[in-house]
Amino acid sequence: AKDDGRGTYRFFEPEMDAQLQRRRMLELQLRSANFDTDFELLFQPLVDLQTKKVTTIEALLRWTSTFHGTVAPDEFIPIAEDSGLIVPLGAWVLEKACTLASDLPPYINVAVNLSATQIRRSNVVDTISTILSETGLSPDRLEVEITETLLLDDNREVNSALRQLRALGVRISLDDFGTGYSSLAYLRRFTVDKVKIDRSFVADIVGDPDHLAIVQAIVGLTHALGMTSVAEGLETEEQLLLIRASGCDEAQGYLFSPPVPEDEIKEFLARRGW
Ligand code: C2E
Ligand code: CA
Ligand code: CA
Ligand code: CA
Repeated sequence: AKDDGRGTYRFFEPEMDAQLQRRRMLELQLRSANFDTDFELLFQPLVDLQTKKVTTIEALLRWTSTFHGTVAPDEFIPIAEDSGLIVPLGAWVLEKACTLASDLPPYINVAVNLSATQIRRSNVVDTISTILSETGLSPDRLEVEITETLLLDDNREVNSALRQLRALGVRISLDDFGTGYSSLAYLRRFTVDKVKIDRSFVADIVGDPDHLAIVQAIVGLTHALGMTSVAEGLETEEQLLLIRASGCDEAQGYLFSPPVPEDEIKEFLARRGW
């Protein structure tokens, strides 16, 4: 549907973009979704490359729309962000993730992806501290994953929210590192705890010496700045060997486990002696 500027919508215009129409439909579906029945939270382990133990599980959201079936997060998250729905949905994710983590051994953390919108358009610090006290989860067991574009625009609100979260004891991870306008200045200015090296670098690490050099450089820099590094998207044993040799601290990927439902991640953790 297209807004004609008079508050009415004209459907089935010949020039109407099918993609735009799908987006509008998905937004309507999202607005009427029942979080508890239409969404599911999956969990994927992050493994310590020295001890081979799971350090963290990352919460990854799944949506099954009544009309559109399974919709990928890369499609529905941006819609949820633009419509502001990510605020209640993100709070739902945080609550579910912290509830699960409070039921796991204390050396296993939980990582939750945080959208820029959640920081800019809601009091995410209040939301998080309320959820932490309600679930009894120790703040240092929660890791929030943010992307570097969030750090780019030098916004006072964002800066202050991140500092408040760190003051609570919550850890900050920089997601998809290397894909945006990465700059070490951001790393220093915001003192993040973990840097997650984007899987596009890991994917080519075996065949492309440049990518291996980039990974080695990022790992070296994070260590020099007192941070840790995580390699994303590990799929093969060859990648694991190179990543481990680079000195990278942790890794995540299908090689260890895809994202799985709550009961399966618990089984996975129990099988590995937690
Ligand atoms: P991300 O945070 O970078 O999450 C990692 C993505 O890589 C996930 O895709 C995961 O399933 C996928 N992945 C993990 N291991 C491998 C691997 O070995 N190979 C390959 N090819 N892919 C792997 P997913 O679950 O489709 O999520 C896509 C993106 O959606 C996430 O990227 C994140 O940015 C966003 N997202 C997911 N859940 C949430 C959420 O609860 N809140 C927010 N704000 N964003 C979320
Ligand atoms: Ca992430
Ligand atoms: Ca990522
Ligand atoms: Ca991503």
